[in-house]
Amino acid sequence: KIILGIETSCDETAAAVLKAPNRVLSNVVSSQVKIHSVYGGVVPELASRHHLKNIVPVVEKALSDANITLDDVDCIAVTQGPGLIGALVVGLSFAKAISATRKLPLVGVNHVHAHLHAIYLEHPSCPFPHIGVIVSGGHTSIYIVRDAIQYELLGQTRDDAAGEAFDKVAKVLGLPYPGGPIISKLAEKGDRTRFAFPRARLAETPYDFSFSGLKTAVINTIRKIKNAGQDVPTEDVAASFEEAVVEVIVDKAIRAAQEYSLDTIVLSGGVAANKRLRDALETEAQRRKIQFLVPSPLLCTDNAAMVASLGLEMLKRGITIDSAADAYSRAL
Ligand code: ATP
Ligand code: MG
Ligand code: FE
Repeated sequence: KIILGIETSCDETAAAVLKAPNRVLSNVVSSQVKIHSVYGGVVPELASRHHLKNIVPVVEKALSDANITLDDVDCIAVTQGPGLIGALVVGLSFAKAISATRKLPLVGVNHVHAHLHAIYLEHPSCPFPHIGVIVSGGHTSIYIVRDAIQYELLGQTRDDAAGEAFDKVAKVLGLPYPGGPIISKLAEKGDRTRFAFPRARLAETPYDFSFSGLKTAVINTIRKIKNAGQDVPTEDVAASFEEAVVEVIVDKAIRAAQEYSLDTIVLSGGVAANKRLRDALETEAQRRKIQFLVPSPLLCTDNAAMVASLGLEMLKRGITIDSAADAYSRAL
């Protein structure tokens, strides 16, 4: 079977061709990051317009990179939500149109579940159930992943997502959007212990996250230094901030694995590209004989190969949608 995956939930227009079970024949991602960076964040209206402009060339490139035509495609998998509604609708409408004209089954994929499922493209033997940790621009959540289509939420952020915190701290440091990659680069040269930023443990709901207090503490620290007429030690602030984020994510992921006696932790989402986070989780997992798996960076950030991959599992189970299906902006 050949699956065409389509992803337009945020600011990446993406299409991929997957040959069952897990051969990625093409994986095209057109990022709008440059367009939105001017505004310091994603502007939904602009995202929709650029998806409209990009969707046809991106899908055509995915087909030609895979050396196939639409005649070879057996199924369309498209991100149905969560995400920006105007952005999702572009991909979903396009997918519905191909599905209708070509009489192909259509699968509506949950974007967050697809991030978690991405690991199966590279590690098909990853066991179920396992702990799935998603850290991205819009989500920071811990799941028990029972199988390809059963995701049990243990906890999630009450305010900012981890990636959002990186982006906001970058902004107050006067750094461009997206902040994650730049902060982590600066942090490499900084002192991680210079500032004791708060770690929100949330003892009563140990798998929930909160990053807004951390963000405020970073902003206040920067303001104090500036008011004293001193230069902001950007690298030390970046390093101390990154350490606070990494520490709570690692603690909670390990705690979940131990409490539920699961011996595999899977990390995914854009922030999973963060080297410090990968290294710290790897070290702590190894120490407790827990297997730690993370997709390669291109499969951690938004892409359509992960959508096609989860779409295939849903197709196998007969979970399809029809032309009446709506996009959803928030998690169902
Ligand atoms: P969601 O998947 O929740 O809908 P999204 O699709 O916008 O959100 P992703 O594309 O998965 O999110 O991730 C983007 C986020 O990842 C941005 O906030 C970015 O700053 C962050 N990020 C990327 N690289 C790094 C890094 N090396 N360190 C920390 N954060 C990073
Ligand atoms: Mg994105
Ligand atoms: Fe994403």
